[in-house]
Amino acid sequence: MNRSEALLEATRRNVPRGLAIAHPIAVVSGQGATLWDAEGRAYTDLIGGIGVLNVGHAHPRVMQAAKAQMERLTHTSFQVAMYEGYVRLAERLNGLVPIDGPAKTAFFTTGAEAVENAVKIARAFTGRPAIVAFTAAFHGRTLLGMSLTGKARPYKQNFGPFAPAVHHAPFPYPYRGTDEATALRALEELFATQVAPDQVAAVIFEPVAGEGGFLPMPPGFLKALREMTAEYGILLIDDEIQTGFGRTGKLFAIEHADVRPDLIASAKSLAGGFPLSAVSGRAEVMDAPKPGGLGGTYGGNPVAVAAALAVLDVLEEERLLERSLAIGERIRERFCSAQAELDVIGEVRGLGGMVAMELVTDAVSRSPAGALTDDALRRAREAGVLALKAGMHGNVIRVLVPLVVDDAQLDHALDVLLGAVRDAARAAERVRLDAVATGVAT
Ligand code: PMP
Repeated sequence: MNRSEALLEATRRNVPRGLAIAHPIAVVSGQGATLWDAEGRAYTDLIGGIGVLNVGHAHPRVMQAAKAQMERLTHTSFQVAMYEGYVRLAERLNGLVPIDGPAKTAFFTTGAEAVENAVKIARAFTGRPAIVAFTAAFHGRTLLGMSLTGKARPYKQNFGPFAPAVHHAPFPYPYRGTDEATALRALEELFATQVAPDQVAAVIFEPVAGEGGFLPMPPGFLKALREMTAEYGILLIDDEIQTGFGRTGKLFAIEHADVRPDLIASAKSLAGGFPLSAVSGRAEVMDAPKPGGLGGTYGGNPVAVAAALAVLDVLEEERLLERSLAIGERIRERFCSAQAELDVIGEVRGLGGMVAMELVTDAVSRSPAGALTDDALRRAREAGVLALKAGMHGNVIRVLVPLVVDDAQLDHALDVLLGAVRDAARAAERVRLDAVATGVAT
């Protein structure tokens, strides 16, 4: 038994099965876009800690900032006594967020906590209870986060009852029959039949549904959403937890659409691997909760905010927003040319460096190919490339590669990944033909 196998066995004994592990390898170190396992095997990491490592594993600048902070002060809780880094980072983000007028920012620890607090703030400001989210959405695993999430399995399973006053409208997903106009009509219908708009505090959305399968929200839909919510006095909460900090070629994905939300939730790549999340928003909205209403023991931890300040420097100095666009084009080009050859690649989609392919059994039926996706990801791992699935049917392969990856490493990883999809498709076809030959299927 090697060390990865031994750790998997110990995990099974000591950790509940609810924590599903995508890749059964024991990782020991990371650098840039590379991870090493306990056997010394290198992997190109197309997952980046689920969108946390846009600046790469162990970026020296970020490590240095965190280390220096660690030697001075690791914790007070900002509610107990202020520290410089928290306020400097808030100031910096306030200058960067695509929010109209003056902005304010509060820090928390996880993405779900940012979502929860954005909702609290929206309710405090509007005095209204209801929240509208979208199908395919993912907003976290806390009670409210999972209530807002628009994917039942595995996230909601038997965890109810869920938080009240949460409604879901269809996310535009043209490949599976919900075009922009249909989704907009459904939202209007929701306001007419499920909840009166004057009871709605906020609509929360991801500019690109991440866990939902890299579904970009069409810019026209976003504009209409902004107009509709403004008309009804509803706040717009932009969940940029997966799309933020350079992933799509802008600091925030919504900047592609030129739409201004009232509140933005961010986390993940904000602090390059340290737990930190933020809610930024219009100053008057952010000030709605009375003193003592916001906070948390660890929110805006000094080490995490020091890391985040360094992440912002790295994004700027290494021009990683431009790099994200170039990476996205490269991946898209490769995926599209593979699609021309492989029937199982149903759709290639995304925004900037956030690109995915949806796998289907064949281009005509468009039946989701979940098992083929798992097989392709296993084959890719065995050939040294880690990628992750997403999507309502677990049949989307997404790429969240660290933006510091160089072209040679990326090209090689894409060769491996597409080779794995090709091999998985051939294996599935062989199984189908065998079944036909033995009369099990037609
Ligand atoms: N919102 C979005 C869009 C996410 O992608 C995630 C995490 N995948 C979350 C919220 C929840 O973040 P966390 O896991 O840090 O609570």
